[in-house]
Amino acid sequence: MNRDGRNGLGRTRAYAAGAVALMALATACGSGGGDGGKAPAATSAGAAAPQPAGTAAPTGAATTPGAAPGGADAAAWAKWNLKPLAPAPAPPADKPIKLEKSGPVPVFSDVKTSDKVVFITIDDGAEKDPKFVEMLTDLKVPISMFLTRDIVKNDYGYFKPLQALGNHVQNHTVDHPVMSKISPEKQKSEVCDAQSALAEHYGTAPLLFRPPFGDGANTPTLNSAVQQCGPRAVVLWRESMQIHDMQYQSGDKLKNGDIILAHFRGPKELKGSTMTQMFGELLARIQEQGFSVARLEDYIQAPS
Ligand SMILES: [Zn+2]
Repeated sequence: MNRDGRNGLGRTRAYAAGAVALMALATACGSGGGDGGKAPAATSAGAAAPQPAGTAAPTGAATTPGAAPGGADAAAWAKWNLKPLAPAPAPPADKPIKLEKSGPVPVFSDVKTSDKVVFITIDDGAEKDPKFVEMLTDLKVPISMFLTRDIVKNDYGYFKPLQALGNHVQNHTVDHPVMSKISPEKQKSEVCDAQSALAEHYGTAPLLFRPPFGDGANTPTLNSAVQQCGPRAVVLWRESMQIHDMQYQSGDKLKNGDIILAHFRGPKELKGSTMTQMFGELLARIQEQGFSVARLEDYIQAPS
């Protein structure tokens, strides 16, 4: 595994500048924290050592200590060359999504909320970049991890420090098939066998399931498979993170409660960009639009 010494920063910056310019058209100055008017550079943290914060501490940034999630201090954001995200509001006491103990499972791609928050989900688990663990430890941005058993089984341990930060592990099948192309029995084993492996290794059974490519999400066969295996909802997405920007399923702006799909990917899949560069750009796109990142599971009530 070549985990260190990743590079290829130059190209990212030029591209990011263009993307930022485009985004600037779509968004006025976002929230109160950290407005400096300057476009954030792509994070340069993918290389061997992150740049320690020199000059970039944003003025007047929200720095309420312990205001989790998303409550990292200004120095932590500056270390990754990012503007601070607005801290997420306290989780709602009355959860917008309430899951039932039995019966058909709901399928959703966003959460109804008036909070100016979005949710980040990260899928598969192929790239296991230690720098990303460092980044999330610093920034405390909440994520949900939809893991595919056969993609993570060579290193279940990688995801444990991410889990220890409060991030939940969710179910994304055994080996990432197109669900509607396989038999009902096979669909069931894809969900159930991943469920038991993830429960065994992470100590808690996934509450949520995501079919690869979103395929089959609304079919009775898949719904039945999910019901038989334990997850109580099927989660899709409204935006999909690419390398420098998101692909929007409709429109070109984030909306309250949108669920964003990203992947554990590295330079091979990201044209030379690292996982932390991609994630930094995702955070910058969210910050530009004035959203904060909340924890998806904080907006969902599990069956009692
Ligand atoms: Zn996937």
